[in-house]
Amino acid sequence: MSNQTPSPVPFVDLRAQYASIREEVHQAMDRVLQRTDFILGQDVEAFEEEFAAYCGAQYGIGVDSGTSALELILRAYDLGPGDEIIAPANTFIATVLAISYVGATPVLVDADPHTLSMDPALVEAAITPRTKAIMPVHLYGHPADMDAIMAIADQHGLVVIEDASQAHGARYKGQRVGSLGHAAAFSLYPAKNLGAYGDAGILVTDDAQVADTLRMLRNYGQRVKYHHDLVGYNRRLDTLHAAVLRVKLRHLDDWSQARRRHAARYSQLLADVPGVTLPGQAEDVEPVFHLYVIQVAQRDELRAFLAEQAIATGIHYPVPIHLQPAYRHLGYREGDFPVTEASARSMLSLPMYPELPDEAIQRVVQAIRAFQTQAQPSRAAV
Ligand SMILES: *Cc1c(COP(=O)(O)O)cnc(C)c1O
Repeated sequence: MSNQTPSPVPFVDLRAQYASIREEVHQAMDRVLQRTDFILGQDVEAFEEEFAAYCGAQYGIGVDSGTSALELILRAYDLGPGDEIIAPANTFIATVLAISYVGATPVLVDADPHTLSMDPALVEAAITPRTKAIMPVHLYGHPADMDAIMAIADQHGLVVIEDASQAHGARYKGQRVGSLGHAAAFSLYPAKNLGAYGDAGILVTDDAQVADTLRMLRNYGQRVKYHHDLVGYNRRLDTLHAAVLRVKLRHLDDWSQARRRHAARYSQLLADVPGVTLPGQAEDVEPVFHLYVIQVAQRDELRAFLAEQAIATGIHYPVPIHLQPAYRHLGYREGDFPVTEASARSMLSLPMYPELPDEAIQRVVQAIRAFQTQAQPSRAAV
């Protein structure tokens, strides 16, 4: 009788967002096409200024990806072989790849069990005479514990580079991420909270000299055309992307507000579902919920159960950095970072995007409740 397949709940829906800004985007792109200033055109500079101002930072430099932003910052601070850089074990691989690209050594630390972000007490413990920098990640859109991290950095003379790729617009004690450390990298990958229609990134800093170096590094090492002061790269932000990003930046706070509303709704509806750990939130932060991540014991079974009902979910991240084959050479082993490892087995990211309908949230929670109430007691007893 009621054997209809329920309408799918996607994990993200970029088409819904495009539909809401279609005209603005077309006009912005058409202006670029008419001007033909495709490389370092006027929208690039305008976006850099607008985004830096949005973050409360002095300078913005557009680049071709978040990974490039991270790598170029490390180069601008002259970090390389022999230097140790502290980063979380629970992050997307790109945070740590950037350290590898410059030849420095990643030193990983475990997460705080409440927020799953890098634990500042463990950062302090990981410092050696070779430590040069700390790279906190504002994971899932929740700002890292920046006061603690900056205090450690000041005490030891370290550079702090924020990986803000998941946290555009998030606030820590009233201040936007990107303005908290010495420099910050943002991915503008399509599915990020602020996303281009292709690969893109931006970095921000208050340091005029570092900004000047970064501008050269992303553009063949030149300040004046054909005069190369540095062995630079081609890592520029395309003007077409910048034009789209300027349109989207005007909507970002509304979209973040919607994400927070959905997160609050999930947390309200899931509060009495047995065996579900809700995302932790520190005091005095305003997260932007790039992801809404719960923890459950029977994660893989729950995920399959949701998939049967056409509900898409994600895992961020299933294999911690120290257990990735690519980083075997760092010499870590299973058991080194218990919080990260346990959360990798239990974390589940639920559908989250600004246009997510409330009925979808209700359906997701209903399905989780059905699974947890029938599966939980018997399985937990084993
Ligand atoms: C997405 C992401 C990156 C990499 O960004 P790209 O634009 O894909 O290169 C880096 N760090 C974190 C935490 C990310 O989520």
